[in-house]
Amino acid sequence: MEIQKNSSKIKVKPLSRKDIRNIAETLKKKWGLKGKKINILKFLEIFVSLVKYEYEIVEDSQLKTNYAEFDPSDKVMRIRESVYSGAAKGNTRDRFTIAHEIGHMILHSLMDAEIKFCRFDETVKSYEDIEWQANTFAAEFLVDFSEIEYMNIDEISEKFGVSRKVAQIQKEKLYL
Ligand SMILES: [Zn+2]
Repeated sequence: MEIQKNSSKIKVKPLSRKDIRNIAETLKKKWGLKGKKINILKFLEIFVSLVKYEYEIVEDSQLKTNYAEFDPSDKVMRIRESVYSGAAKGNTRDRFTIAHEIGHMILHSLMDAEIKFCRFDETVKSYEDIEWQANTFAAEFLVDFSEIEYMNIDEISEKFGVSRKVAQIQKEKLYL
């Protein structure tokens, strides 16, 4: 999502990492994705059609500041062409970008979250920060926490198609 007015943050209903992990887990169980490397484009395609949302692949120049964005008003996710093709090739950053936008769809639109713009001097705790929530969803969705206890960073990165940085965070946050 791109709506970042000046230095303001967007505040939403608080969700802890544990809440978000539970949402990601429920989704993966439903879709038979537990323990698997998720084909994020295939998931996107089927998921948006089920919930009657849409996605569009647009020229990179049409999305100036974002790799992708989700517009809750028209329920359309727009994705840069280069990001879409990168995700198809397994690029970890592009996979994460798409999972992040799916996070916005689920947490901030389908779950009907209350979204407020905060002034820059208002404190937004990370649990209430819309971008933190979408990033946390992306990481929890792509990486299966129940599999990584005995895996190292490289193994996690390889198995789940995420960057080493994401793999490391998920390993650090294994026990909540
Ligand atoms: Zn976002």
